[in-house]
Parts: sequence; structure tokens; C-alpha cells
Amino acid sequence: MTTTTYSEVWDLDVFFSGGSASPEFAAHLEETKTMVENFKAKVSSWNPTNTSEDGQQLLSIVHAFEQVTKKVRQAGAFVSCLQAQNTEDRLVEGLRGNVTGISAEFQIGLTDLDQKLTSINAEVWSSILEQEGLKELAFVLSERRQEASEKLSKDEETLINALSVDGYHGWGQLYDVIVGTTKVEINENDTTKALSVGQAANKFSHPDRNVRKEVFAAWEKAWGDKSAYLSKTLNHLAGFRLKVYKQRGWEEVLKEPLAINRMKKETLDTMWKVISDKKAPLVKFLERKAELLGLEKLSWYDLDAPLGQAETKISYQEGAEFILEHFEKFGDEMTGFAKKAFEEQWIEAEDRPGKKPGGFHTYFPEDSQSRIFMTYSGTPSNVSTLAHELGHGFHTYAMRDLHTLNRNYAMNVAETASTFAEMIVADASVKNATTEEEKLALLEDKVQRSVALLMNIHARFLFETRFYEERKEGIVSTERLNQLMEEAQKEAYGDALEEYHPLFWASKLHFYITGVPFYNFPYTFGYLFSLGIYAQAIEEGKGYEEKYISLLKDTASMTVEELALKHLNVDLTQPEFWEKGVQLCIDDVEEFLQLTNK
Ligand SMILES: [Zn+2]
Repeated sequence: MTTTTYSEVWDLDVFFSGGSASPEFAAHLEETKTMVENFKAKVSSWNPTNTSEDGQQLLSIVHAFEQVTKKVRQAGAFVSCLQAQNTEDRLVEGLRGNVTGISAEFQIGLTDLDQKLTSINAEVWSSILEQEGLKELAFVLSERRQEASEKLSKDEETLINALSVDGYHGWGQLYDVIVGTTKVEINENDTTKALSVGQAANKFSHPDRNVRKEVFAAWEKAWGDKSAYLSKTLNHLAGFRLKVYKQRGWEEVLKEPLAINRMKKETLDTMWKVISDKKAPLVKFLERKAELLGLEKLSWYDLDAPLGQAETKISYQEGAEFILEHFEKFGDEMTGFAKKAFEEQWIEAEDRPGKKPGGFHTYFPEDSQSRIFMTYSGTPSNVSTLAHELGHGFHTYAMRDLHTLNRNYAMNVAETASTFAEMIVADASVKNATTEEEKLALLEDKVQRSVALLMNIHARFLFETRFYEERKEGIVSTERLNQLMEEAQKEAYGDALEEYHPLFWASKLHFYITGVPFYNFPYTFGYLFSLGIYAQAIEEGKGYEEKYISLLKDTASMTVEELALKHLNVDLTQPEFWEKGVQLCIDDVEEFLQLTNK
């Protein structure tokens, strides 16, 4: 391996120099605005004639669609990066507003386009899709046409969109405001300390149980104090969504989330059924963890408790080299991509104040470059995050030659490439552990992911489904929300816990995300889907990369059932594939149980 020292700071100047005050970026925004206006005018002037001429018109509109999409995404990516690298940058706020405004205008043009697609009859439609330039877009264009045909008229949908700014998204934003003002008060060295929600959440991995227990009591109290506002927020947000569904004649609450994720209800049902049937070993893991902590049973606040203190620090350089070394065993393309990202300053990892928490990957389509954001402080979980985000980057890289419209993959497959990359590194870390304590800590980390995805997310899904059903009948009271949540948690955790977190519906942001409904099951899908692919990769070795890339390329132009059938030769509506994925999780549990059986 070469000894290049990798920079921990990213390069954004290559896109637009001068940060948030960049004149180049201001010009980009102006240009994008004009292009969006032109796009809207172009769509508006098109009146489908139900002849082959529609194909020519559509081709030209689709071309403009692609250009505008790239412009808007480029702008969005730049603003996200600016916002993340310095939360004090006051100029970014205004830029964000600009981009949101431009995107909303673009959306109006797209709604218009989609409605026009529905006015083309089926016969002409299928002949149009045979045309050069449109053929490759058959799936995405038909999907748009189908979805539009199930919605209301253009005027009604435009009105809904306009009203949702204050009547729907407004509720989601109110959640952020309430959380921002929520303080968790704890006692530390005889003084009362007011922690932010984020700071308090970090205490749940404190080694001292008394600390965790105290923080949890304060945590429940803090959410309890705000629960009247939050229950109102959740009820109205859900009420708006349900009212729109009702107007469109949609009975099933899951209709929209399933369509967004391009999957069938049977697939979802089969996945959860397999998880419910097979999760008993995870309950055993929780019991063993309780034993190791000297407890009868775990409580909610013990789930993240550390088992050992074996935390070795890994420098950024070492972390990067470790990732490259293990990607190498899997394939050259992925290694080459990661190397480029490290060498060409695509990653912002520096540990400094003023950065946003968390990590993400974003893509600059006009330059075909990725950027990765995170804060690297040297923990094993930082190395996982880095691998995770590089996995997302590799996904976009694998798709680099595709038409922009064929690159919009949904959340459930989005987490496939990231989880895959993370698995390579997590497995290598467990194997490379030098002490038993270290090995155990790393293995536990892996099992905890399964607990999160197969138990915690399951509880969220059960709760949300039941809540929406009850909400159809009217307002659901705070007490009832608590009750529904506790029941869902008991079921999803197989009654393994002593104390649950009934106010989880209040503390979890994901129930309030208006952009994507049911922000839960796609995580579990992505996890198990990537485990299935990972299992094949292990079997086939280095030669698997080519197949893996062709799978990634298809992730945004077919349903997940078609994707799995074509590339993995499996039927997702049947239990077998899911059973294999869950089995990999169970293998880790069994290894953990063996290691701790003393
Ligand atoms: Zn991710």
C-alpha cells in the first residue's frame, strides 16, 4: 500500500469557490431558476395528441428534465455540504431557502408533466416507449404515469401541495422546534444540568447503570411534559396524510410507502413474518446481555450499555487503510473508488466543533463526484460509518453512466450498498481482533445492529401501522399512543425487557418526517437484502463484484421483486431469501453466546 497521507478536510471549491458567498454558486442558482421556468413552460405548452408525435415531444421534455434535475441536485448537494461543515454559517440559511423554492417550482412542472402522461392512451403509450431514447426509461416513465393516474386532477394536486406547506410540512417542522426546546434535566455533582435531547441520548451508552437509569427517568419526564403538544402534532400530521389518501380513494395506509419503495405488500408481510418467527435467538442475546451486566432483565436504557471497555483508537489514516485493505479482497472497482475518494478530498472527517452531527453521502451530478460527511474521532464505529458512506458513494459511482432518471433509487435499496460495505469492514474487524474482549465488543456491536433492525424498527412499524388505523377513526389520545407503543415494543422485543419506552412515539423524529411516510421498514429491508447479497459475495469471492455492480445499476429501474429475481434468482414474496438473511444475524448471536458461555 502507498503511504499517501489522506486529508481529513473535503474540497468544495472544486464545485463552486468561495463557500456560501460564492459568486459562482449564485450564478448557478440563477441559471437553475431560469431552466426550471423554461421547463415548466415547455411542459405547459405540450398538448398530447395521442399520435406518435407525442414521443418526439416527450423525448425533448425528458431531455430538459434530465438537465434541470442535475442542476437542482448539484445546488442541493452544495448547500447540504455547506450547512453540515459549519452550523454557524448564517448565509447558508438563505441559500437553502432558494434551493427549496426552486425545487418546489420544478415539482409543479413535474406534476403537470405527470398529468399529461395520463392523457396518452395505453396503445400510443406502449408504442412511444419503443422509441430510441425513451425505451431505457420505460419503467420510470410508466411509474410516473401510473402514479399520476391514481391521484386527483392537476388543480387538486396543486392545491394539496400548496396547502401542505403550512398544513402538513408545518407540523413536521413544529416537531423540530419542540425538540429543540426540550431539555432533559439531570443531577450531576449536586447541580442540575439541562441536557439537550442529543446529549441525553448519548448517556444511554454510559457504563454506569445508575447514570443510564437516572437519565432515562429524566428523559421520560421531559417527553411526558411535551407530550400534549407532540400528540397534537402527530395526530394532525397523520390526519392530513389520511385525508389526502381518502380524497384520492386510497384505502391502504401502506399504499404510498410501498409504491415509493417499489415493493409489494406480500414482500413486506413475508419479511416481517420471517423476522417474527425467527427472532427467538435475539431474545437469548438480550437475556445473556442482562446476565453479563448482572441483571435479571434488561430495561430500555440498558440496550446500548457497553459490555467492555475495550475501545482501541484508530487514527483516520489507519481507518482508511483498513477499509481499503478489506475492500481489496472483495473487488478492484470498489477499492479504486474508495482510494479516489480518500486521495481527492471527497471526505470531510475532521473532529472539530461547529459541525453538524451524523454522517451522510451526497453526489454532485455535474462533476460526477461524491462527498462524504462525518466526524471521525477514532472509534471502531467511526470506521464503520466511513465504510457505510463509501458504500453509498460506490452505489452512485456504479450508476455513473446511466440516464439521470434511472438513478433515483428508493430508501430500501439505498441502504443496500452502504450496509454491504459496512459488513465487509465489520466482519474483518471481528476477525482481526487481537484480544477476546475486543472481539466480543465488536461482535456485540454487530448483533446490536440486528437488534435495532429486527426489533426496534419492527416496533416502530407495528406502532405506526396500528396508530394510522386508529387515527382513521379520530384523534388518538396521548395515553393511547403510549399504550400502542408499549404493546408494539413488547411484541417486537419478544417480552425480553423489564421496562419499555412508551413515549418513544414522541422522542423519535422518524414518525414526524413528512417527506417520506413510514420511515422504518425500508431500513430493515435494506439490511436483510444486503445480507443476502453479502452471503453470495462470500461464497463467490472476488469474481462477484461484476454481478454486484450490475445489480446496483438496476436498483432504480425495476421493482425490488424484479431486481431480486433477475440478479439473485430469488422470490422476495417467499420466505427462503429472508430466512437466509436472518440466519446470518443468528450466526453472530450464536458466536456471541458461545464466547460468553463461561
Ligand atoms: Zn446510509
